[in-house]
Amino acid sequence: VERNPGEDEFHQAVREIFNALEPVFEAYPAYRKENILERMVEPERMITFRVPRVDDEGAVHINRGFRVQFNSALGPYKGGTRFYPSVNAGTIKFLGFERILKNALTEQPIGGAKGGADFNPKGRSDREIMRFCQSFMNELHRHIGPDTDIPAGDIGVGPKEIGYMFGEYKKLRGRFESGAFTGKAIEHGGILGRSEATGYGAVYFMKEMLKDHGQSFENQTVVVSGAGNVSIHAMEKTAELGAHVVACSDSCGYIYDKDGINIETVRDVKQRQGNSLSAYTSYHPDAEHHDNPTAIWQTACDIALPCATQNEIDEEAAKTLTANNVKAVGEGANMPSTVQAIRTFQEAGVLFAPAKAVNAGGVAVSALEMAQNSSRLAWSFQEVDDKLQDIMKTIYQNSTQAAQSYGRSGDLASGANIAGFVQTADAMIKQGIV
Ligand code: NDP
Repeated sequence: VERNPGEDEFHQAVREIFNALEPVFEAYPAYRKENILERMVEPERMITFRVPRVDDEGAVHINRGFRVQFNSALGPYKGGTRFYPSVNAGTIKFLGFERILKNALTEQPIGGAKGGADFNPKGRSDREIMRFCQSFMNELHRHIGPDTDIPAGDIGVGPKEIGYMFGEYKKLRGRFESGAFTGKAIEHGGILGRSEATGYGAVYFMKEMLKDHGQSFENQTVVVSGAGNVSIHAMEKTAELGAHVVACSDSCGYIYDKDGINIETVRDVKQRQGNSLSAYTSYHPDAEHHDNPTAIWQTACDIALPCATQNEIDEEAAKTLTANNVKAVGEGANMPSTVQAIRTFQEAGVLFAPAKAVNAGGVAVSALEMAQNSSRLAWSFQEVDDKLQDIMKTIYQNSTQAAQSYGRSGDLASGANIAGFVQTADAMIKQGIV
């Protein structure tokens, strides 16, 4: 805490792992002797840079750009890029640190990284966003590459922004290196199924967990927070498996539709019109809109899938969910539950699936995109989706087995941390003290 003042989210992410790893350190003193944890929490490299831009009215603005290259024990650095006004060094470090273990869990050859800027693309014209992406890339291009560090999207960064960054990178490098980014549009090297991968993958993971406990999505009432990429695809797959999704949210509030959320309307309102979710009720007058997004957790449900943002379920929300008899919680977003909320679920016997494992489908398909770019081949949507299902099954099995082996049966949060940690730590030890 003294070495990284003010980085609260990063401290939270590290604390969660410390707790999970206790039995591993007891069983294998070599990890302690090698001081692996202290090495792992220190990024290999943290880049902070100025991103100047001119808006459409001619005013000059300065944003702050970040890239944390956290760990390259298993492969080149890999992680998304977030453009959001509250982004700071602590946010990027928490997300980058989580990526080390999450990427390891996918069993793909990729290290951990994350980047972003405190830029708000909302309400900006395409041209302004393009100029921002170009300015961001003007510095970042010298630190990335297909065998060095491969950025992708995250909140505020989709295929459009990746396209602008790739265009500028290509110009600066004078080479068409499509493997330098993932999450690209199909026209310049993207993979079919990447947009769906995180949301679908989360549901595939939950399906495995439910099956293991003699349950399924069929006829279950589900609440999915958010109304962005992860949330929309999680709702789509959940509904396909026979569940009733009754509520979703955005940063301005949440909607409850007892007849089941109409996903096409959400897509239309959020993605095509760029509107607030409150506009949903003009298409479905029987649905309700409430102003407080976190009050979504007061909605009674069997399965809760937080797919919006970090710390959206606090202890109070977790207590409300358990009082309403929630059976399972799966984290589609990164760190959506506070430490106290996770404890509340676990103590109440709710099946809890942690972000690191649940939302790893996105990065797993990104690694497939890298493989596709290297081989200059392309898979069909179905082939990618089949591979995604296999990967999510493996992540579930590995996390379950790791929890069992270290005396934490049924504790998937510990299991996922342990499985990812052991892979990374063993590779670090074999590569010496570097
Ligand atoms: P998007 O930007 O597409 O969507 C985020 C959604 O969350 C938006 O609907 C946004 O509302 C909403 N939101 C933001 N803050 C709140 C809040 N406080 N309460 C309720 N809703 C809120 O992002 P993604 O769907 O891509 O990402 C969501 C989460 O999943 C993030 O934690 C991300 O890091 C994680 N993730 C994403 C992956 C991916 O492949 N996309 C991969 C792995 C993890 P509004 O529209 O009003 O801004």
